[in-house]
Amino acid sequence: MSLILNKLFLAGSVWRTTLNAKVTPVKFVHSTFVRFDEEVEGTEQAKKIDPSKDRSKIIPVETSIKYLESSAYKTTYGNDPVWKPYRRNFKGQFAPKKTRKMCIRNGVISTGSPCPICRDEYLVLDYRNIELLKQFVSQYTGETLDPSCTGLCQRAHKDLLVALMKAKEYGLLIHDVPYRYYDYLEWKS
Ligand SMILES: [Zn+2]
Repeated sequence: MSLILNKLFLAGSVWRTTLNAKVTPVKFVHSTFVRFDEEVEGTEQAKKIDPSKDRSKIIPVETSIKYLESSAYKTTYGNDPVWKPYRRNFKGQFAPKKTRKMCIRNGVISTGSPCPICRDEYLVLDYRNIELLKQFVSQYTGETLDPSCTGLCQRAHKDLLVALMKAKEYGLLIHDVPYRYYDYLEWKS
């Protein structure tokens, strides 16, 4: 009996050692992958990025709030919401229901027609940027507008939902519903 147990234990240890041997190459691959990335940054490939498509710079919210009040913004968008002049670029007659997953990959615009938020780097989705958030809320129902209407990519829409939720929690964004006076006598038989 003890012999069988011994053999089982040995088999277990052998299996464990083979498992270790399988795991170590994965770590090695991962470390080499990081090193490869660092190499690419230094080469000519990284220098070829179009500066108008570079979105690696982080713009503070204060700058974005000032931009929304500036004359540069007025001449670009007028009094319309930022998504109004945007047209989705799609193949065929009907637009797909879902918008694209993201416009910016690794800090660079990866598409020919980035969504209204991604194309203008001074539009920052933040809970303090109320004037921008208001443009994505229906003035009649108080609901958030669908990306099929606004054309936002899924990542920007997710950021928008987070910012809207946070703004509502902080009490910065208030939606008023007109009070209805009911004549209850009408409902009596
Ligand atoms: Zn986008």
